[in-house]
Amino acid sequence: MPERKDSDSRKLLRRLRETLAAPASGQHRLDEITHHIADSMGTEVCSIYLFRDPGTLELCATEGLKPDSVHRTRLRMGEGLVGRVARTGRYVNTANAPAEPGFRFMPETGEETYPSFLGVPIQRVGERLGVLVVQSSKSRQFSDDEIYGLEVVAMVLAEMAELGAFLGTQSDGMPLAHRFPLMFRGATGQEGAAEGHVWLHEARVIVSNPVGEDPKAEKKRLNEAVAQLRAKVDSMLAASDMGSGASAEVMETYRMFARSRSWLRRMEETIDLGLSAEAAVEKEQSQARARLESAADPYLRDRLHDLDDLSNRLLRILTGQGGDTGAEMPEDPILVARNIGPAELLDYGRKLKGVVLEEGSVGSHAAIVARALAIPLIIHADRIVVEALNGDPILVDGDSGIVHLRPEETVVKAFRDKIAMQAEAQKRYAGLRDLPATDKAGTTIQLYMNAGLMADLPSLDGSGAEGVGLFRTELQFLTRTRVPRRGELAALYAHVLDSAHGKPVTFRTLDIGSDKVLPYMKPQDEPNPAMGWRAIRVGLDKRGVLRMQLQALIRAAVGRPLLVMFPFITEMDEFEDAHRLLMEQLAREQRLGHAMPSDIRVGAMLETPSLAFAPQKFFEMCDFISVGGNDLKQFFFAADRENERVRRRYDTLNTSFILLLDQIVRRCNQARVPVSFCGEDAGRPIEAVTFAALGFRRLSMRPASIGPVKHLIRRVDLGGLRQVIDEAVARGETNLRRSVTEWLARQSHG
Ligand code: PEP
Ligand code: MG
Repeated sequence: MPERKDSDSRKLLRRLRETLAAPASGQHRLDEITHHIADSMGTEVCSIYLFRDPGTLELCATEGLKPDSVHRTRLRMGEGLVGRVARTGRYVNTANAPAEPGFRFMPETGEETYPSFLGVPIQRVGERLGVLVVQSSKSRQFSDDEIYGLEVVAMVLAEMAELGAFLGTQSDGMPLAHRFPLMFRGATGQEGAAEGHVWLHEARVIVSNPVGEDPKAEKKRLNEAVAQLRAKVDSMLAASDMGSGASAEVMETYRMFARSRSWLRRMEETIDLGLSAEAAVEKEQSQARARLESAADPYLRDRLHDLDDLSNRLLRILTGQGGDTGAEMPEDPILVARNIGPAELLDYGRKLKGVVLEEGSVGSHAAIVARALAIPLIIHADRIVVEALNGDPILVDGDSGIVHLRPEETVVKAFRDKIAMQAEAQKRYAGLRDLPATDKAGTTIQLYMNAGLMADLPSLDGSGAEGVGLFRTELQFLTRTRVPRRGELAALYAHVLDSAHGKPVTFRTLDIGSDKVLPYMKPQDEPNPAMGWRAIRVGLDKRGVLRMQLQALIRAAVGRPLLVMFPFITEMDEFEDAHRLLMEQLAREQRLGHAMPSDIRVGAMLETPSLAFAPQKFFEMCDFISVGGNDLKQFFFAADRENERVRRRYDTLNTSFILLLDQIVRRCNQARVPVSFCGEDAGRPIEAVTFAALGFRRLSMRPASIGPVKHLIRRVDLGGLRQVIDEAVARGETNLRRSVTEWLARQSHG
């Protein structure tokens, strides 16, 4: 067999384009195409298998196999050689197909007479549409050029499919991609349910001309676009002023990719085979995505992501489809993205009904913002970006971490029933708004809310919270490109206090580090940032920023009480030091003639187990203590709160953790210092009543949790629950959840 020449490939692609241009049914086009490919490749057989649904491939057209097997022969993903190509996204080339592992004999197609087999995936930037196969009776391996040529043809088929060239009915043409319902199982970033329509954060680029007539002209276009891309990357690098460190290295790699000769050369070679410049970029991108899916090394995955990003940028330059593809945002948008930063999410704001990400983590900034905006968020919804189209109907169940894309009627109905039930419950809770969270025996628990944005403040009235128990001040720092000025912060904090209408607001000083990296701070290359240079450790080492923030808080309070809380205190000295710094700022502000707060109370967040064992003097020194359960739990159990694999492994009602909390409450009571709990668990009703039974008299949570928590507290006798806990501990139970929930169930039936 002679080597295939570039001109053969171009001739074939020209024929494919003519097929696309002529008016014909989807099925007719597919039939013609298999004929052209078999003819051009010199094989007896050419077949196109397409996905009928995500797990099933269907023979949709063939030249050479029995015609009546078309739309009859079906394979499961992974079944036979065709299924293997579909599953792995990689070609299979063999001179002896029946001897290959997994070969499946399909008598209806007459396949046994064709030992040579070459199958390549039909895919478009990571989205698998099907498999293109050629077979011949002469036993031989296909050459690298032939494989490459067939991949190029498959690429064009994928583009044509995207443009709707092969659409057909159930029994002919192409099964309708992006039409069937899909379910994604992710993880919960923020609870809540939402129904709406897909809005892709980065709309996909549409390539309308996969075939290029004039390779010289296409290469010129590609080179010009690459030059533009390089200039853009250089200016991005200059503007970001990264200095040195890990991020700078990453950006340098990004630049290296943009300047890669081999990347450009591979794309030019693809153009020589007859593809347009944009289709050549997409071909490279598809391959990078396929590699990305199988790469386990996080560093390599990041680099492949870089390449993917660059390809997207290049495509946008080539097609002129900037970020805006002209699509209109639906009225009930549910944002679908690979990942998103906090600033971008804030830009969308409350317009969004929900957010679904392929990546992300529970403790990420985006998750904090989504929580602050009370938008249901699902993370780790694998592959949703390639499957979803703008405008697709979508249901987000933030409680179970499930997303339904293009759901069937029955699913929609069940989902709506669930939302209606939740709305009903909310109505019940709204009726409790002005009632206290008093248990059956008359003990009252104060319920506060957590906040971090101005936008949260209206919830203070709506939820019936008695104040803000935790105001996370880092969000204002995270969403800016530079350190905010003292005047700006003072105005903002004053506005927060104004909006609270006299209800207390506890400001937590800047808690950065760990995953909360300020874009303008020199990045730290730490092996374990959660246990690294973070929160008060940064504040005490870089006193300028902490001083400035404390001054802003003092100026905001003018004549009103000021509550300041220091995060992540690990030993008494740190609190003493921070406390002293605050007192110095008060003295300074007074000297400068600024009005003083009417009262000042200073507290510590207890987020590391060590602080539970601090000297009694520490407890006496604090005006209040707040248990940051999110961090305390991760350090107590040595289980990363951001690592989905271990996050849920240890239960909050584990007896050891409850005994730790019990000791904290006892020590605070001894020192007569008020203690509250402000981690996420305070918003979960069962956990909340358990904490209350241990003696926490103040809980701070998301505003939406206040109703359900209050509802449960009002129905129980906390003293009775305390007894249940003590008995279970005495029996040696390692986890109290069963005893607690069974007792609660008996209460509500009794
Ligand atoms: C905590 O750790 O429980 C806490 C409230 O702080 P953050 O979630 O902001 O770390
Ligand atoms: Mg914390």
